[in-house]
Amino acid sequence: MPISSEQLIIIGSGPAAHTAAIYAARANLKPLLFEGLLAGGVAAGGQLTTTTEVENFPGFVSISGPELMQKMREQSLHCGTRIISETVDKVNLSQRPFKVFVGGKEYQTETIIITTGATAKRMNLPGEERLWQKGISACAVCDGALPFFRNKVLAVIGGGDSAVEEATYLTKFASKVLMLVRRDVLRAAKVMQDRVKNNPKIQIMFNTLPTAVLGDQSVTGLKIKNTLTNAESTLDIGGLFYAIGHIPNTAFLNGQVELDEAGYIKPKPGTTQTSVPGVFAAGDVQDKVYRQAVTSAGSGCMAALDAERYLSH
Ligand code: FAD
Ligand code: NDP
Repeated sequence: MPISSEQLIIIGSGPAAHTAAIYAARANLKPLLFEGLLAGGVAAGGQLTTTTEVENFPGFVSISGPELMQKMREQSLHCGTRIISETVDKVNLSQRPFKVFVGGKEYQTETIIITTGATAKRMNLPGEERLWQKGISACAVCDGALPFFRNKVLAVIGGGDSAVEEATYLTKFASKVLMLVRRDVLRAAKVMQDRVKNNPKIQIMFNTLPTAVLGDQSVTGLKIKNTLTNAESTLDIGGLFYAIGHIPNTAFLNGQVELDEAGYIKPKPGTTQTSVPGVFAAGDVQDKVYRQAVTSAGSGCMAALDAERYLSH
């Protein structure tokens, strides 16, 4: 027996989820939001709970990530969202109303907004846990401008489009950027490759793997290994950025919504509508390019408006 029958269930707890909830609650859709319990290894509130200062969310000159997410959650509740601190295990989208399963309980709903985000891949190097956010980051656009990283030699790990974007962005602040690539080629698109190859502040180190991060209070160095010769050496660096890909949190959908080859949800261009009418997606779970709090919030707003229109038709 279903516990309840809802108009809208929102799955997730980042900026996309809470923005969707605020709009949906104000439109009287009475949203029920499952914020997750360490879903994907991240606390309720999403990726911003894992960072320190956020300086690019409009309205806040500087605010800690957890505090920003707490404020969004408060606003959701204030508007009338009901929040349940559990993780959605699976959904059944083959019949209407849709079914959402949470810890053995079943909920029914007319529409769903999926905002389960993506998790940046980490390498779990020796020293990484201790120095995470003390010189190690997985988001240059988010953290690169911090005074901490200014005029230092910074290393970016990865050879894809993200690594190119991160390395290029970091040249605004760093004295030099080392791009560590595990193979002898970049995976990034040709036009992106040219961008790093033509930038005098970027040095690409091919066939290079990091093996340990060094430093007590902050990052001071990186142990590396040449994959061809196995020769080991140490780089003096003041910061380390991972750009080795993200894992979108879409496994619980079990193939019922169309995904791209990397597992991201593919909404219809210009909308948040997924391949299943009545199921919408917003935030990083459907965005592998911009991946920012404000773009997630923007698409969360779109999803709520799309769901409202769907329900009224
Ligand atoms: P996410 O923040 O990814 O959150 C989704 C959450 O949903 C998950 O974390 C989990 O708690 C929950 N969830 C997942 N699966 C389930 C499930 N099955 N059931 C229920 N709940 C579930 N962006 C900026 O704009 N500025 C910054 O300064 C900035 N700094 C960053 C620093 C770091 C270290 C990182 C990793 C990211 C940073 N970002 C920053 C990027 C920003 O955090 C993301 O773009 C944004 O959080 C994505 O929001 P989202 O709503 O898509 O979901
Ligand atoms: P990708 O999966 O494309 O690239 C990941 C990179 O990290 C690869 O060079 C990979 O090496 C390397 N890597 C992976 N794991 C490890 C590891 N354990 N140790 C060392 N290196 C590792 O991820 P991106 O985030 O770069 O891109 C994801 C998608 O988003 C792509 O489709 C990309 O085109 C798109 N994107 C587009 C942008 C744009 O158009 N402006 C911007 C950002 C992303 P290897 O090549 O050997 O596998």
